[in-house]
Amino acid sequence: MEAMMTGMINNIFFIIFPIILYQMFATAGQRNFFVSHRITMTILFSISIILCMVFPYQFLTEDYIFDLRQVPMIVGALYGGPVVSAVLFVVSAVGRISIGGDGMYIAILNQLIVAAGVPFLAPLYRKINRWWKAVLVFSISIVSLLFNMFAGYFIFGDPIHDLIGIWLMLILNQGAIGILAALLIEHLQRQEYLYNSLMRHEKMETVSHFAAAVSHELRNPLQSVKGFVQLLQEVEYPRARQLEFQQTILEEIKAAEDLIDDYLIYAKPAYGEMKRIEVAPELSHVVKVMSPYANARNVELMVNSGEGVSPILGDPQKFHQALVNIIRNGVEAMPDGGKLKIELETSGSSICVHIEDEGLGMTKEQVNRLGEPYFSNKSKGTGLGLMVTFSIVNQMDGEINVESELGKGTKFTLEFPKISK
Ligand code: ADP
Ligand code: MG
Repeated sequence: MEAMMTGMINNIFFIIFPIILYQMFATAGQRNFFVSHRITMTILFSISIILCMVFPYQFLTEDYIFDLRQVPMIVGALYGGPVVSAVLFVVSAVGRISIGGDGMYIAILNQLIVAAGVPFLAPLYRKINRWWKAVLVFSISIVSLLFNMFAGYFIFGDPIHDLIGIWLMLILNQGAIGILAALLIEHLQRQEYLYNSLMRHEKMETVSHFAAAVSHELRNPLQSVKGFVQLLQEVEYPRARQLEFQQTILEEIKAAEDLIDDYLIYAKPAYGEMKRIEVAPELSHVVKVMSPYANARNVELMVNSGEGVSPILGDPQKFHQALVNIIRNGVEAMPDGGKLKIELETSGSSICVHIEDEGLGMTKEQVNRLGEPYFSNKSKGTGLGLMVTFSIVNQMDGEINVESELGKGTKFTLEFPKISK
């Protein structure tokens, strides 16, 4: 009895493990993971079947070996359809033949019937609710074992009466575990479905939030541009005054552009093409672009990109944007000027870009909030810059690390996986 319990628990584990394993690894799943990942599921269920047979748990008579291999077969056929069912049949038939014995023929015939018949029930199975699914799985399991029992009786004259108690127990047992497996799959699929719709909802929320915020924030510069242009039309101002207005108009347009840049990069749904990026030349390019901005604020950009190749994978334009946003913050953090160090470090499997300023610094709480939409401590900040940067770096499989001390400065470290040639 004890050996049987151990064997049974082993068998249950063999059946549950691929399902759980699957859930752990399939992060970006679709609604019915069994359909979208047939091959993986077939392989995992085959392993279940083999393990169940290698560690069986009840010997009815010398020739009868009992294990729960029918559970993956039935569940696999119901969720996976005829092809999965056929493969699982071949696996279990080969396994059963290698075990041998008189019971072999009945077992294989039984498995053939299960493998051929159950897929016909799959369309029905898909339509019914969970409780009817449980009933169906249980019934298939019972029919299949009853077949085994009667075939044994009629073909080999196995004494049913002596063993009826054990048979009943096995039937209940297999049925219950079949239900357990089916309910577990249903549960996981439901979780996955909920998770996906939550993600979708979240995305929509962010986008609509943004749309509202951006149109709101664009309205200000547009209004003032409109106001100044109207003034210029209505009154003949002296030349100096006109230039002053035009300068303001240009600044407002620039502000609008900045906002659109920050926003569009994030909102663009399709991530741009992933290309090989050489970090060192990209850094010098970014620094060249940012120099006028930094110089105007008395900030010296110091670059040390080392030597050697440093390829990573990403969309160059977005990578660019990610760096610009951090550098811009660094410059803005030093209102009285200072040095901004940009360093490239190539190690074994990763590439790090360090961007270090000697500016205002941040408290721990502020560091923790970086990347949050609209988190800004500046009177004219959008609080979108770092959110965009985080999202870009994330998409490139990179990581951002921030060390900061109030009054001393801040060091951003971007780490990306290196790609091989
Ligand atoms: P914004 O620059 O529009 O405020 P960001 O998302 O770029 O928005 O930055 C969010 C906030 O993070 C900033 O307002 C600032 O308070 C803080 N921050 C970012 N980088 C630095 C830095 N290098 N030094 C100090 N504070 C920083
Ligand atoms: Mg910024």
